[in-house]
Amino acid sequence: MDESIGVLLKALRFAAEKHSDQRRKNAKASPYINHPIHVAQILWEVAGVRDETLLSAAILHDTIEDTATTPEEIESQFGPDVLALVLEVTDDKSLPKQKRKQLQVEHAPHKSDKAKLLKIADKISNVGDIINWPPKDWSLQRRQEYLLWTEKVVAGLRGVNEKLESRY
Ligand code: NDP
Ligand code: ZN
Repeated sequence: MDESIGVLLKALRFAAEKHSDQRRKNAKASPYINHPIHVAQILWEVAGVRDETLLSAAILHDTIEDTATTPEEIESQFGPDVLALVLEVTDDKSLPKQKRKQLQVEHAPHKSDKAKLLKIADKISNVGDIINWPPKDWSLQRRQEYLLWTEKVVAGLRGVNEKLESRY
């Protein structure tokens, strides 16, 4: 079998371990790992992505932002290309939330094509979650504001994959 399956299994185990104490914000408090798995699967199934680097980065995309994972760990386990892609989709958590949201909109058009694909798949997953299994303490207004913000980010990411963009 293809060697890349081994790499993806390793990424799955690494991300599952790193996110093991985290839950999603939905009423069921689903395991966090469901989300990065969903993002990788959207890339595979909707966008037709077969690139090992991009699929690995999708599985790992929230590890640096949301867990104690360091860039050095990702680089030593998965190499510099996967690390570069994960860093491209990682927000600077030292900034205030509204600033981070604004920067995602501003930076979107300047991302690499692979990072654009990953970011669109991430937004597809989150928008689906917000619509189908909303966080229970989010008002309708807050959910609507979130959806409108993703539209602004995705507007700057378009032009990389028609199927993915129309799914969004
Ligand atoms: P958050 O950034 O707090 O939450 C959204 C992020 O949480 C997602 O991008 C996703 O990130 C992650 N996430 C975890 N679980 C879920 C889930 N079940 N569904 C979707 N995402 C999940 O949201 P915002 O601060 O952006 O809030 C949305 C809007 O609401 C803002 O525009 C803000 O103006 C407004 N707001 C209202 C408040 C209020 O009414 N009390 C308070 C704060 C903001 P990842 O991809 O990393 O998993
Ligand atoms: Zn995500």
